[in-house]
Amino acid sequence: MAKTNILIIEDEEDIRELVKYNLQRENFGALEAESGEDGLKLAERAAPDLILLDLMLPGKDGLEICRTLKRNERTQHIPVIMMTARGEESDIVTGLELGAEDYIVKPFSPKVLVARVKAVLRRKASTPELAPDDVIKIYDLVIHPGRHEVLVKDKPADLSATEFRLLHFLARRPGWVFTRYQIVDAVHGEDYPVTERSVDVQIVGLRRKLKRAGIYIETVRGIGYRFSDK
Ligand code: CA
Repeated sequence: MAKTNILIIEDEEDIRELVKYNLQRENFGALEAESGEDGLKLAERAAPDLILLDLMLPGKDGLEICRTLKRNERTQHIPVIMMTARGEESDIVTGLELGAEDYIVKPFSPKVLVARVKAVLRRKASTPELAPDDVIKIYDLVIHPGRHEVLVKDKPADLSATEFRLLHFLARRPGWVFTRYQIVDAVHGEDYPVTERSVDVQIVGLRRKLKRAGIYIETVRGIGYRFSDK
């Protein structure tokens, strides 16, 4: 079976070596680039299965590289996990909006990194392209897009149209983190002017109406929201 190859774009050699060592120990193939420009070339040429992208790179920074990767037809399907320093929430938000799939904050433990890589690969492989009308059954929720109906333990929850779209959007991709902007972009409706601020208000209302199932909607501090995949 072909190895799963991970491209590490990181200028700091120590970190690159540590990441490479831990990936190889888990039987992943590791490719390395010291700069974003080299990383872009390698991503096109070697078509890795996933890219670990440091945001603080000399020359073109990680966000710039992420933008280029996600605009290029040959690389846009490759999942990107950003590696970032603490306190760079706004960069993380920008990266997610550019299409990065996930992020990990330095310093990270190799165990957590490997788990994150596996989770992203698994989600990428298992996220079925749901048709907009497909019924979603997850935990004790049943979401019927066609009927605009949500059942919590077989009992209907009385959601507004916006709350429904919000829940449907998040629950279609459990585990993925979405920024407020991405949520607004996906959920905005004719009936309600959804703004980034009002996303928080909608979430509060949605959680309340879902009662105990409200815990599936997780806050990702400083970044946005995700539907639980645990
Ligand atoms: Ca760096």
